[in-house]
Amino acid sequence: MKEVIIIEDEKDIAELIELHLEDLDCKVKMFHNGQEGHDYAQKHPFDLMILDINLPGMNGIDVCRKLRAEKVNSPILMLTARSEEIDKVLGLETGADDYLTKPFSIRELLARVKANLRRVEIDTKSDEEESSIQFKALVLDKKKRKVSLNDERIELTPKEFDLLYLLAANPGVTYDRKDLLNLVWSYDFEGYEHTVNSHINRLRSKIEKDPTKPEYVLTTWGVGYRFNDQA
Ligand code: CA
Repeated sequence: MKEVIIIEDEKDIAELIELHLEDLDCKVKMFHNGQEGHDYAQKHPFDLMILDINLPGMNGIDVCRKLRAEKVNSPILMLTARSEEIDKVLGLETGADDYLTKPFSIRELLARVKANLRRVEIDTKSDEEESSIQFKALVLDKKKRKVSLNDERIELTPKEFDLLYLLAANPGVTYDRKDLLNLVWSYDFEGYEHTVNSHINRLRSKIEKDPTKPEYVLTTWGVGYRFNDQA
């Protein structure tokens, strides 16, 4: 059973989300105050958080930023009231995985929840050696979902890992943003390519020495992204 934390002070919205998540067989913990939600999430592992921005106690941006600083890397889906908030939400230091703009349909919310709970099954041979990828100083272990750079562990969120693994398993292959949304998030919604950009930026800030001159995740101008295949 998946554990989902909802932090939303508008009680009717929170309860509506809770009801639908229970239909998906999720165990739901609900908070109406940012501080209380943060304190719980810090101590209890969860599979997904649905987090509003404007909250009493502590706002959603700060809840997300604090949890990331405390090395809580579970997926966080933020509910934003205005489209201007998106850049901030998906910014490097906030660390949210995804967002949904209010008002949203339940169908859209549920698709998003499922996409964030799902982990990508990338075809690899089952033995352990085949499931690890090494390129220069970067090593990805699929089985343990672990990434290290120069023998130091890098903390990635599940979607960051899936994205990096997909690219690294197919070096030199360019994926456009729509491909990546489909493959990593399983979205069939238009207009959320921004989510891909923000994940790429965040990945680069974690693995690249100079994110403006990446040596692992490269930009194919005008098309999308590819993993370096030139040693
Ligand atoms: Ca609110």
